[in-house]
Amino acid sequence: MSGKTAAEPRSPHRSPLAADQPVGVLGGTFDPIHYGHLRLAEEMAEALGLARVLFIPAGQPPHRGAPRTAAGHRLEMVRRAVAGNPRFLADDREVTHSRPSYTVDTLSDLRVELGDAQPLWLLLGADAFLDLPTWHEWRQLFSLSNIAVATRPGARALQPDALAEPLKTEVLPRLTKTGDTVGPAGAVRLHRMTPLDISATAIRATLGGRSSARYLLPDAVLGYIHEHQLYASP
Ligand code: ATP
Repeated sequence: MSGKTAAEPRSPHRSPLAADQPVGVLGGTFDPIHYGHLRLAEEMAEALGLARVLFIPAGQPPHRGAPRTAAGHRLEMVRRAVAGNPRFLADDREVTHSRPSYTVDTLSDLRVELGDAQPLWLLLGADAFLDLPTWHEWRQLFSLSNIAVATRPGARALQPDALAEPLKTEVLPRLTKTGDTVGPAGAVRLHRMTPLDISATAIRATLGGRSSARYLLPDAVLGYIHEHQLYASP
């Protein structure tokens, strides 16, 4: 199968992706997915001209404890959240693997599928980005993808000069801004996102305390949570 179209069977209703159209990748536990994730993807899609954003729920995240909720439920919540947005796509590649979900492996797989020319953007919130040096083979990420980082309330500010080593050395030469020409991989972009102080942790606590989480996440996701009695206990 041609590298450029291999990702498309997951989205038969989507228009074909041209080889030069940038693709965004948003990984996460999505336990549950909320408007912080969706707004991050939307703002990045606009800022970077992304033709597609793949939402990839982690199966077994290696750098944190097991998610509270089974992978099948987390994937289904993502599917419901992105339904109706032609640019957004739920991607099940990590939840169907029994191995730990290393981002470097996921991006390597995507590279094989999409080919070397397709611009890829790994989308991260500031908390995840500042944690990057703890990730498996993290320096390889820059050879596989560009990285776009969004500000996040509660996370440290994204001052390039104030970054700690070893992130600073790796990131400073790669920084790009709007209008710069960017290749398939290797660039870093910082994005000042509309601040949304929403986290899955806080949503789980809210639901566990029998309080309303409405307007923190899509109604379709909340409906699914109630239907399956997810997060019902603290
Ligand atoms: P938890 O509270 O369980 O740790 P979370 O809300 O941080 O979950 P994740 O699924 O871990 O959600 O996050 C996936 C990605 O989305 C990460 O890169 C994270 O930084 C980013 N992200 C999540 N919420 C926001 C937000 N409100 N603003 C900006 N980025 C966010």
